[in-house]
Amino acid sequence: MALEKTGFSTKAVHGGEKPDKRSVVTPIYETSVFAFTNTKELIDVISEKAEGYIYTRFDNPTLRAVERKIAILEGSEDAAAFSSGMAAITTTLLTLVSKGDHVVASRDLYGGTLTFFQEMLPQFGIEVSLVDAADISQVKEAIKKNTRVVYAETPTNPTLKIVDLPRLAALAKKHGITTVIDSTLATPYNLTPIKFDIDIVVHSATKYLGGHNDITAGIVCSSKEFIQKLKKTRKILGGTLDPMAAWLLLRGLKTLALRMERHNQNGMQIAQFLEKHPKIAKVYYPGLPSHPQHSLAKKQMRGYGGVVSFEIKGDFEKTVQFVESLKLCLLAASLGGTETLATQPTTSSHYFITPEQRQKLGITDQLVRLALGIEDPEDIIADLKQALNKI
Ligand SMILES: *Cc1c(COP(=O)(O)O)cnc(C)c1O
Repeated sequence: MALEKTGFSTKAVHGGEKPDKRSVVTPIYETSVFAFTNTKELIDVISEKAEGYIYTRFDNPTLRAVERKIAILEGSEDAAAFSSGMAAITTTLLTLVSKGDHVVASRDLYGGTLTFFQEMLPQFGIEVSLVDAADISQVKEAIKKNTRVVYAETPTNPTLKIVDLPRLAALAKKHGITTVIDSTLATPYNLTPIKFDIDIVVHSATKYLGGHNDITAGIVCSSKEFIQKLKKTRKILGGTLDPMAAWLLLRGLKTLALRMERHNQNGMQIAQFLEKHPKIAKVYYPGLPSHPQHSLAKKQMRGYGGVVSFEIKGDFEKTVQFVESLKLCLLAASLGGTETLATQPTTSSHYFITPEQRQKLGITDQLVRLALGIEDPEDIIADLKQALNKI
């Protein structure tokens, strides 16, 4: 059966795997280096005349399996795996831009990415303009002659804004600008940006792709040509994923569809519960009809994911009391794993930014981000209820 004709789950289980002998599962090639039978063979591989492996910082068979699998799921020609989401993002940008270039980026970004854009890229003579990418006219106005890259996340963290990908891609194409989308919160189960003509998709595979809160990893999906260039930068900067983590990611990906179904279901059910609760002032979830961009989300996504943010009726102290009263939901700053995690963005992801910046992003003292796991929704709701009863 041709793999291209199969469904998402079949692709997630079988795609990219080429285990040798009778092994069902791709083994962990836990080796830092590969040996050659003769010099000609070595030269052929080094000069890229023949396929092969030399050194694990360059490439490794377990890594290749995970890269092939994710490329199949995202619908991209190829992919490259990194030691973290940040390694994937920074290596991508350092491959795309050089001195004198300009980048237009969304203001609603993961903290590490925002710091890289605001503090590190300018050190290399690269100018960055921050806009609200959910408003395409702001992106359009920020474009200059030397703009090389437009960068955004969708849905955004923690307020779950949606970026209109077909419009963003069309605008960038018109100006010959490369588009990069951080699709961590969506995953290829809910959204495939390449289908909308986006050039490069990046992921923190630490989140849903790995899915079990047990690895740190990153992924970049794009054309064969760009991935080849990117891997040359990866080889030098050294942020290559290690074989053990690659194997855990390979294993996590096989259940991506099952987990995302539950994350989507939990997201919707808990967002609906919170929206009706008298102690909740506001709920952010793109699956709710009350979300200002619900129709856009519905048009470009297959599901809305497991991140739900909300504001409690009360102040900072009351919100602290709420998150500290949770028993099943853990107070931890990540998302996308099997365990439900709760955080106050003001004390975690957005702790280091100024109150003015927070206000611009809609991050208030009473905001809570809930990263739903795959537990039974009734149990999560019972935990939220008892914690809300304490405030
Ligand atoms: C976590 C995260 C990152 C960074 O990934 P790491 O694996 O922690 O380096 C980047 N973007 C988004 C949207 C994230 O949630």
